[in-house]
Amino acid sequence: MIDAVSAAGVHSSLVVGWAHGKLKILFDVGIYKRGFDAREVFISHGHIDHIGAAVIHARAARAQNAIATYYVPAVCADPLERMRVAGSELDGQDIPMNIRVMHPGESVFIGPNNSFRVLAFETAHRVESQGYAVYSQNVVSRAELKTEYASLSGRELGELKKQGMSVTTEKVIEEHLDLVYTGDTTFQGLLDCPTLSCEELFAADIFIVECTYLGLNDSDVRSKAIQWEHVHLDDLVEHAEMISASLLVVTHISVRYSLGQILNLLKANLPQDLQSRTAVTLREFGSVGELTSLHAATKKMRSDRYKPGGSWSKKVVKASGSSGVRSNDHSYHRDSNKIAPAANSVKRKKNATEKEGNKVDDV
Ligand SMILES: [Zn+2]
Ligand SMILES: [Zn+2]
Repeated sequence: MIDAVSAAGVHSSLVVGWAHGKLKILFDVGIYKRGFDAREVFISHGHIDHIGAAVIHARAARAQNAIATYYVPAVCADPLERMRVAGSELDGQDIPMNIRVMHPGESVFIGPNNSFRVLAFETAHRVESQGYAVYSQNVVSRAELKTEYASLSGRELGELKKQGMSVTTEKVIEEHLDLVYTGDTTFQGLLDCPTLSCEELFAADIFIVECTYLGLNDSDVRSKAIQWEHVHLDDLVEHAEMISASLLVVTHISVRYSLGQILNLLKANLPQDLQSRTAVTLREFGSVGELTSLHAATKKMRSDRYKPGGSWSKKVVKASGSSGVRSNDHSYHRDSNKIAPAANSVKRKKNATEKEGNKVDDV
C-alpha cells in the first residue's frame, strides 16, 4: 500500500504499508491526513513542505494514546523539538514526540519482530538531507546448539561459554531491499552516494524519487533544478537504463505543471520499458491506497481524448481520484503569501507562473 500527497514547495507526505498493515512508515510529514497515522516517521530534511505537519501528526497520535517516533537528520532535531514545544503551548497540552537523530549510514530496526531495517543514506540538497532504504529481513536459519555439544549439560555449556567458546551455530539472516525513498536531492547526489551504491539504490523493489522539474529542452528549468538542487526529468531519462526497480514512483513535482502536462511529459520522454514500471503521485489526486499508474493513466487518456467535449486532463483526474469529491482544479494560486486553491486553474496558474517566476519553485 502506498498513498501520497506531494507538491513541491507546498507539502509532501508518503505512507507505505508492509506486512499486511503491521508496519506503516510515513516518509516526510509536510501534510497530515487520515491514513497517515504511521508511528514511524522518517524525515528527509527540514524544509517545511516535508516537516511542517509533524506536530499535527503527533497530536493525532496523542488522540489515540500513542507516541510516534520521528527520525530526522541531526540538524533538524532541535528545531523540531522547539516546534513541538511551541505547538504544545499553543495547544494548551503537551504533544509528545520521540525525536530521534539518524546519521547517514545508521540503521534502525522496526516492525514486527524488528524484522525491517531502515538505513539512512546521504543525499545532496540545499540543506542537510538524507534518504532512507528499507530492507525486509528473513531468518534463513536460527542459532542452534552445535551437534558436538548436544550431550552436554547446561552447566557444562555455561563453562564452555565462559571460556569464550561458541556453542551455537550462526543465525543467518537474508535481507531484501524493498524500498528506497530519496527525499529532495540532486540526481548527482544519488550517483555519488557514499552510503549505498547507486546501482543498489536503483535496484530497490520500489524506488521513490523526487522529480521536481519536468520541462525538457528548457534550459531555464534545467538551471532551476541545479540552483534549487532537485532532480530533473532529464536525469531520469538519461539514467533510465540504470533504474532496475520493479516500480519507479515519481513524486514531489512542481506545481507549475498541470496534471495533463505531468502525464504528457512523463509519457513522452520516459523510455517505454520504464513507463510500464512508473507511477506518479499527482498531488492530492493520487487515489487512496494506490498511486496513479502512468501506463493506466495514459491508456485512459488516449481513450478519453476522442470523446466529444472531453478534456483528457479532467478525465485523468476523475480516473485517478477514487473519492469522487475532489475538484478538477489542482493548481495553487499565491496571494499575499497565502496558498489557496485557485478557482480558474489554468488561466490563473499560468499568470502566477509567468508573473511570479521562481516563487512557485520548491524550497
Ligand atoms: Zn521539497
Ligand atoms: Zn527541499
